[in-house]
Amino acid sequence: MKIILITGGTGFLGSNLCTRLFDEGNHIICVDNNYTGKMSNVKSLLDKPRFEFIEHDICQPLNIDKKIDQIYNFACPASPPAYQGKHAIKTTMTSVYGAINMLELAKKHKATILQASTSEVYGDPLMHPQKEDYRGNVNPIGIRACYDEGKRCAESLFFDYHRHEGVDIKVIRIFNTYGLNMDANDGRVVSNFICQALSGKDITIYGDGSQTRSFCYVDDLIDIIIKVMNSDKNFTGPINTGNPGEFTIKELAQKIIQKTGSKSKIIYKDLPADDPTQRRPDISLAKEKFNWEPKIELDEGLDKTIAFFKENIHEFRG
Ligand code: NAD
Ligand code: UDP
Repeated sequence: MKIILITGGTGFLGSNLCTRLFDEGNHIICVDNNYTGKMSNVKSLLDKPRFEFIEHDICQPLNIDKKIDQIYNFACPASPPAYQGKHAIKTTMTSVYGAINMLELAKKHKATILQASTSEVYGDPLMHPQKEDYRGNVNPIGIRACYDEGKRCAESLFFDYHRHEGVDIKVIRIFNTYGLNMDANDGRVVSNFICQALSGKDITIYGDGSQTRSFCYVDDLIDIIIKVMNSDKNFTGPINTGNPGEFTIKELAQKIIQKTGSKSKIIYKDLPADDPTQRRPDISLAKEKFNWEPKIELDEGLDKTIAFFKENIHEFRG
């Protein structure tokens, strides 16, 4: 049994990680300020002796008495509507101060720490598909910069703590992931389209819908995250984690309308500034090093996610 601390543990990915690692027999310390996370995401764990919840903002230092073996740093607003607007500065603070505070905690406990980085470090990529050695095309003063540059700075901090402080690090770059425990209202495309379709509201495509994304089902992602965390000490990443199946946003909308049998109509809205035009991970490194590739294709993953949102559609505020 390991003692594992997960920041962002009541969010979408963090709660899936808490559940999986708990089920594997570990002691979980879930840390979150519930900015976008919800206690209901971890409700099945709340009364368990091997599960602790600490309400904490990772912009502040954190002391833990128990000896921690591993830290998964997942706390950060992640959907564009959550990190743009009035929470932009807080997003950079969470990425940067949060990384420093969690790296200091890892150093003190001699714990391995894994950073949830993102495909957004590649910005609006000029290399396609994106490989780990691509340095990206990010607008440093645009409305996505609080997230993209915050995450880039966090990667830099991770590698400096590794080089200069001897901290064991792992950096994964997560591409668009979807599935159970997504927030119906956080505005990401998969949850938004499904909830719009299920409630008969217009499906809002931003731009002409020709931009692409590659969607990974959450269970596949959790598999590779845990493999990376438990890899040999010399492996730091960065490593792309995602599903290389690439779809236009219009194709996604059509698929969801067809699967839900919805009468919703598609409407077109302005494309937000700096919205990446294409995104697909090159996952050769994950295949070679971990013999991993996603098993759940978009159709199957959407069916599971639609079933989840059917149960929770009352939460959608539209
Ligand atoms: P989410 O919004 O569901 O989860 C983020 C969690 O972090 C929430 O529970 C939120 O309350 C918490 N949080 C935010 N700021 C905090 C702070 N200052 N202190 C403590 N807790 C704080 O988003 P998610 O999709 O689960 O994303 C989790 C992580 O994975 C993020 O770091 C995100 O950047 C990264 N990521 C996610 C995706 C994806 O497709 N889901 C893709 C790339 C990277
Ligand atoms: N998008 C859309 N309609 C929505 C939500 C998102 O057309 O209701 C588009 C968005 O402009 C982007 C893509 O879908 O091109 C993915 O958006 P999301 O917010 O899920 O993730 P990210 O932009 O961070 O990849």
